[in-house]
Amino acid sequence: MRILPVYTPNRKYTSINSQNNRNFTRYNNSLSDFKSIDTVSFKSRVKLITDLRNIPDIPCACCGVTTIPNGVIDKFMEEKIYYSARKAMDVIESSGIFCKSKLNPHQLQAYKFCKMISRLYEGTLSSILDRPAVVHKMGELSKDVVADIKLIEKMTKRVFHDSSYLIKELEQFEPKMNKVEKEAFNILRKYSKIYPKKSFTEIFNEPKLFNKHLLKLERKQGNILWQIDCIAENMSTPSKQKIRRLVKKSYNIILKESFLIKNKRSRIIEMFENIDEKIPERELMQEILFLVNQLPSSKNSVSAFIVKYRDYNPNKIAERILRGSAATIEHVKPARRVNDPGENEIKNYIVLCANCNSERGQIPYSEFIKTHRDMPHNIQKYIEKVIEYINNGRLNGYGQYPQLIRQRVIDESEGKIKLDISSLNLRNYVQKNKNRK
Ligand SMILES: [Zn+2]
Repeated sequence: MRILPVYTPNRKYTSINSQNNRNFTRYNNSLSDFKSIDTVSFKSRVKLITDLRNIPDIPCACCGVTTIPNGVIDKFMEEKIYYSARKAMDVIESSGIFCKSKLNPHQLQAYKFCKMISRLYEGTLSSILDRPAVVHKMGELSKDVVADIKLIEKMTKRVFHDSSYLIKELEQFEPKMNKVEKEAFNILRKYSKIYPKKSFTEIFNEPKLFNKHLLKLERKQGNILWQIDCIAENMSTPSKQKIRRLVKKSYNIILKESFLIKNKRSRIIEMFENIDEKIPERELMQEILFLVNQLPSSKNSVSAFIVKYRDYNPNKIAERILRGSAATIEHVKPARRVNDPGENEIKNYIVLCANCNSERGQIPYSEFIKTHRDMPHNIQKYIEKVIEYINNGRLNGYGQYPQLIRQRVIDESEGKIKLDISSLNLRNYVQKNKNRK
């Protein structure tokens, strides 16, 4: 039986959203009339794409999820999630954190500076601090004052909306969310219907919900460790002892340490990787390493997601739900492969979602597709989308890309993935690129 510590809401930002300040932080409904200012003007000429990640709706070449460009997520956070500097400063102020008697001279100067610019300009404090005139003015301030301004900037990003607002805004991205993120989103949506004024963080800390997922998580972890223990049974006595010692240590990390301690999973994986070469039973050890990598993480288990993010600011949770689908550049031949690093060149690039990219790490495709059976199908879907853009002459500098990447994928997968690039038609591409010159 585990006893939960007393839950203090918004632990990390109590100063901003202390209990007595609650209502004030929640006057945010008026924010729905906050109009975004779109400065992009759409001219008749179609914009060229020079980065694979910016191809609209490009699917992840591994899991097939429709990716979201990081720039789109940044823009969404700026316009819909973070408060305008003016409102954020008011909220923070009302918490009493800027009480003059509590501030040292640097802090007081930083506060006055932020207050002034928040009255002068529209937008979030971060966007205002990027304005050339403000950057220039900051150049005249001392280092300490600038550091305190940065702290205030961070605080403004933690002023948050209630769950009903966040759900409404995030819904537009639902079709593009990754599996676990979508599950987390659905749980948040379900609870926000019951408690619309609660924050994402408070929902994840609902005792019934949290305890259920903590239990599920520990059960999954325990199951994997038990399987490892069974494999060790078939090893020589010295190997068995080494593995058993690690299994015991892992149990201690998972069950005895506070669940607030982060990075338990990576610590356990690291322990097993460190012992890898000392175990002569190579095949059995490979099986163990495979299993240990199946330990639940916030990318593959909604229970791990809830347990991990129950401690985060609601804005961070909203952002994390989207960032799992962020379009990232993957090096087909890993850039960090020892002795044979992959190039930082187009011929070595494909697009994966952030989750798949971090999961793949440096595993060769020939191995990786054993646990990602949809990859050959999805990478084909991916290349067809790219070819569509090349055929229309819209992807600048990528005429040779399909052939090059086809070969690279064959090499990396030991011939197990062969892309069909027969739909490539460079006639338009060559014509349009000639016209541009
Ligand atoms: Zn993916």
